[in-house]
Amino acid sequence: MPYGQVNAAAAVLLHVWRYVPSPFDHSTLPIKPDALPRSGGYDGDPVINPGGLEPINPERMSLSVTRPLFSVPTAPLVPIQGRQEGFPIHRIFCVGRNYAAHAAELGNTVDRVAPFYFTKPPTGLVLDGGSIAYPPGTEDYHHEIELVIAIGAPAFKVSAEDAMKAVFGYAVGLDMTRRDLQNAMKEKQRPWDIAKAFEESAVIGPITPAADFAPAEQRISLRVNDALRQEGHLNEMVWSVPEMISHLSRYYHLTPGDLIYTGTPSGVGALQPGDRLVGAVDGLSPITVTIGPAG
Ligand code: MN
Repeated sequence: MPYGQVNAAAAVLLHVWRYVPSPFDHSTLPIKPDALPRSGGYDGDPVINPGGLEPINPERMSLSVTRPLFSVPTAPLVPIQGRQEGFPIHRIFCVGRNYAAHAAELGNTVDRVAPFYFTKPPTGLVLDGGSIAYPPGTEDYHHEIELVIAIGAPAFKVSAEDAMKAVFGYAVGLDMTRRDLQNAMKEKQRPWDIAKAFEESAVIGPITPAADFAPAEQRISLRVNDALRQEGHLNEMVWSVPEMISHLSRYYHLTPGDLIYTGTPSGVGALQPGDRLVGAVDGLSPITVTIGPAG
């Protein structure tokens, strides 16, 4: 067979292999439409297909999943001041460059065009009071003390005026960062995930209900081994709490259980195993965490 014909035959086979479904292809999960979880939105909104899946193949609908193959980690329930119930976690959003002085210390400027976001996995959340392992892959592991908003009601395309109705409460948090990896990713214009979204990368303290705390000019601070490292005031935030919620709700159906880390004041810096961090926002429960050995 001439070489050209072999090539053509190979191309046809490759096409068939790529585009004709295999009877052994189990990549599409057999999910019944009424079993799809709601993903945010107000009561009465249409059900959202959470994975953006193609319409379900009717032939696969006769199959059903009965139990998980194995168990996976879940996010911890966050304690709430004055309540027995814990606050369950859905998602973690983080706002970048929300204090001008912090943006400047990393060589950035802030603008009032629009806030920007990154996310962390809910399973990366740890409660304060314990120790977190020094993470792998970095030699420049940084602390970022932040005010955290806990969302307690659905919010989608809400105005800043209506945004505060979605707030359940507030907590002190740490957005842990592998700064060397973040700088490398920034340089190559690549996503920040490896620098921001890793195990134990988000610390949170107990949540104070919104009835007992309103963000205004409170001091936010972080001490490392009793030395003051970070300090600012909540009124220095470039984007206010209602502005962040309103803007984020243009892009997501914010849902009870979502957290928003609102950015860090200046003074971020490197940590070492054994360091003891105490973070505070006046009026909220302070947090304490110790950096453990490399994990
Ligand atoms: Mn941050």
